[in-house]
Amino acid sequence: MDNWNKNCIFCRIIQKDIPNAIIYENEKFLAFMDKYPINLGHTLIVPKHHYSNLLEMPIAVVGEMYSLVPPLAKAITGVIKSDGFNINQNNGRSANQIVPHVHVHIVPRYSAEKIKGQWPTRKIAKMQDLQGLAKKITENLSTRYE
Ligand SMILES: [Zn+2]
Repeated sequence: MDNWNKNCIFCRIIQKDIPNAIIYENEKFLAFMDKYPINLGHTLIVPKHHYSNLLEMPIAVVGEMYSLVPPLAKAITGVIKSDGFNINQNNGRSANQIVPHVHVHIVPRYSAEKIKGQWPTRKIAKMQDLQGLAKKITENLSTRYE
């Protein structure tokens, strides 16, 4: 691992410095069970390099990280017999990112459970506002990763 932060709990898990439940590892990524699962099987995928959020990561590395989701989710849901799963990835405290080291949540879901509390209250935006915002984003996109 080429960079790590001794004050970061995920870096310490990657270093095997504290107890963990790893389900997959390769040279760049680690997948392990969340200590505070939303549901049984709740898993986190983290890059071994300490990036605070998704915008710090090279795009190719983001792709590599997300390419791990299908096989891991298939394995998790197959074992615990869940009906589906959510992929959550939070960036910033306002987005409920608790640990400032990039992580993708795989959260198994069950038909029998009541969906509650996981998502913030949804707001209704005006289409005109959304289109204006989309245009700004599009204009800013072309140079974003050059
Ligand atoms: Zn870290």
